[in-house]
Amino acid sequence: ISKEYGKRNAVLFDLKHMDGYVNKVGLESDIRSGLDNHEFYLVYQPKVNLKRETVDGYEALIRWNKKGKEIIPPNDFIPFAEETGLIISIGKYVLEEACKQGALWIKQGVPFQTISVNISPVELEQYDFLSNLHAILEKTGLPPKYLEIEMTENILMKNMDRLVRLLNELEILGIKLAMDDFGSGFSNFRYLSELPIHTLKIDSSLMDRVFLGRDEVIVSSIIRIGHSLGIEVVAEGVETIEVVEFLKNHNCHTIQGYYYSKPIEAHEVPSFVLKSI
Ligand code: C2E
Ligand code: MG
Ligand code: MG
Ligand code: MG
Repeated sequence: ISKEYGKRNAVLFDLKHMDGYVNKVGLESDIRSGLDNHEFYLVYQPKVNLKRETVDGYEALIRWNKKGKEIIPPNDFIPFAEETGLIISIGKYVLEEACKQGALWIKQGVPFQTISVNISPVELEQYDFLSNLHAILEKTGLPPKYLEIEMTENILMKNMDRLVRLLNELEILGIKLAMDDFGSGFSNFRYLSELPIHTLKIDSSLMDRVFLGRDEVIVSSIIRIGHSLGIEVVAEGVETIEVVEFLKNHNCHTIQGYYYSKPIEAHEVPSFVLKSI
């Protein structure tokens, strides 16, 4: 992994939830033993389609049941894992587990179109990312069209030529690509037309502000431009019926958020019922 990337994240890394660690060496060895001891697991958040009144897909989100004592959310260890390279092992676990789960749901007849996996830029930078992914799809038997990879704008800071080639290869495989957290950073619309992006996820930070004035215009514009480019637009972090109504009025019918469901455990997915819309 690149040193430059590591440094950038080191600045952002916040130890406030990591009391008890004198230094990061302790955290590193805890993550390693956590991987060995199967302390990591995935939860799944439904992505609701209001037009079809179905669940379009599920986003896999990692959790860490640290030493069986406390559940650590990803924001408290993913940045550190990226900095140290541990994200590579974590990412392989996540991909394989999510693909295994998706293949099982297909077998069980669970209706869904995609299972989404968050991928760190550090993972995408690995020269063997594609071959690993291939191997995982083969091993788990998940047809590639069921897999969606979510990435953030951070991937754009790196070698663009290589990135374009890689994303095109993923597209050829039939894997879908989502741009996550759109509207939280510089959010350049140009990339959306230049990269094979299928899905645009509007950042949750914009959702509670749609009624505060300006962000209403920003959100409705993102929806309009996304759709004009032939991209599916998903709103993230939707917690209230007011925001649901706002999104419907602005033609965004795909929604993820606590209003419909928090992330749930894999075994709860087959019986998940959408509350009436
Ligand atoms: P993300 O990919 O943008 O995921 C959405 C986050 O928003 C999730 O937090 C989800 O639980 C939360 N969320 C969903 N709906 C609502 C809502 O209505 N209200 C509020 N307040 N929150 C909502 P989570 O699971 O803590 O994940 C945080 C971030 O950690 C993710 O943001 C993603 O960037 C990263 N992450 C999670 N799992 C993985 C993983 O397996 N690999 C990698 N590389 N990153 C991951
Ligand atoms: Mg995501
Ligand atoms: Mg997001
Ligand atoms: Mg995020």
